[in-house]
Amino acid sequence: MGLRSFFGILPPKLFYKDVSAPVELLPVPEKITLLWYRRTPSDLAVGVGTEVETGQDLARNGRGPFVSTVTGHVDEVNTFLGVDSREYLAVQISADQKDNFDPSLPAVEDLSEAKPETLRASVNRAGFTALKSIIRDPRVWPAIDALIISVLDLDPLSIVNQQIFRDNTDQVQAAVELLARTTEASRCVLAVPDNLAGIASKVSTGAATVAMVPPVYPNGLPEILAKNCGAGLLMKTYDTGFAGNTVVVSLEHALAMVSSLQTGRPMLEKTVTFSSGKGELQNFRVRIGTPVGEILKRASVNPQPKGKLILNGTMRGYACFSDEQPITATTESVHVQEPSEVFFFQNTQCTNCGKCNAICPVDLEVNLLGRLSEYGIYDKCRGLGIENCVECGLCGYVCPASRPLVQFLTRAKQGLSEEAQEPAGMEEALECNACGPVCPAIRLFDTESDKEDSPKA
Ligand code: SF4
Ligand code: SF4
Repeated sequence: MGLRSFFGILPPKLFYKDVSAPVELLPVPEKITLLWYRRTPSDLAVGVGTEVETGQDLARNGRGPFVSTVTGHVDEVNTFLGVDSREYLAVQISADQKDNFDPSLPAVEDLSEAKPETLRASVNRAGFTALKSIIRDPRVWPAIDALIISVLDLDPLSIVNQQIFRDNTDQVQAAVELLARTTEASRCVLAVPDNLAGIASKVSTGAATVAMVPPVYPNGLPEILAKNCGAGLLMKTYDTGFAGNTVVVSLEHALAMVSSLQTGRPMLEKTVTFSSGKGELQNFRVRIGTPVGEILKRASVNPQPKGKLILNGTMRGYACFSDEQPITATTESVHVQEPSEVFFFQNTQCTNCGKCNAICPVDLEVNLLGRLSEYGIYDKCRGLGIENCVECGLCGYVCPASRPLVQFLTRAKQGLSEEAQEPAGMEEALECNACGPVCPAIRLFDTESDKEDSPKA
């Protein structure tokens, strides 16, 4: 996957995988679970036993959209602890194998004539909640300067967008033009990894300029992509208003939006790359809400006690507690590590070697930030630009002392955003499960007998 410098002077490079893996569509599972953040059962228009149709908005009026991806009946409404350690409202649905589509979500009749606000309303109703900035109301949100459609993936072991680009070259131009109109962006960029230059040269991209990007991690992360494409800051909301005027959309989401506008059907499926220590990468397309266990079953992989199941990448993903974790619209990859492959960070001191600083793509003083975060001195982290950390995980990857750097930094960012200034020591950072990226302290599928010596027990 990567190259380490022979003399240890140059930072190592992690390359994105350049392989083609056909997408296999998995059948609709018996049960799916849909997650909704920061919501309670009172936000739902349905309850246990309600029959639902595919594409039906399950939210009480005005609180959604929260779209069912199957036809069936609601089995359970509960809370669910996500891989990011946040609590979600979870709606479990027993799924029929045949879809009845909710007719209240019509296709946009004449796409070429439709006004931007009509397109945005349709996309919004289809439940593309992960792309709020695209479906913005221009009376409230600032104008978008650059819209970047990314063919790069977020993790070196994910090949979702690469494969979708290989398989759907004929749809790229339509996606670019429709998205440009929907967002009213001033300019549109199609970001393609260098290794797909041959395919890109044959693709008609309409109004978009093509930016060739070296396939080196973390070039696919939105912040880095925006910088490398000469665009400004990403559009974000703050308590005090808005900042930035660049929006990055994955090619998969861009094509799903176009399909939704053409057919009136919401995004029902998500493509994920499966990888393990053994074997090739595999791409599976599943209904949103499908338990991860269905993918493991199809890949014929049984995670071992003390092995690890990781969602969304080995560099910046999350260790997963259970194979019942559902695939969401933003799940990119599933990775299984054998016990012998699991890496544990350690409670050791920084040796000031400077490797973390050298590799940081946003030039942070990571060694210093790590120490400040370790002792809970979050206010000083702000002065050192911690908010610019893109959580790529490279600092922890190169640290010879195996310090949990990205966990420290993520924790400091969370502390600052919550204005919680409670000190958090090394032990707490190693043992807690609140950090975003893959936690070294988590042992997945621990058997009962393992629990005593597990750091989490
Ligand atoms: S995770 Fe580490 S290397 Fe990556 S941006 Fe943050 S501080 Fe820099
Ligand atoms: S945190 Fe790790 S990589 Fe960074 S200076 Fe210290 S020992 Fe070196």
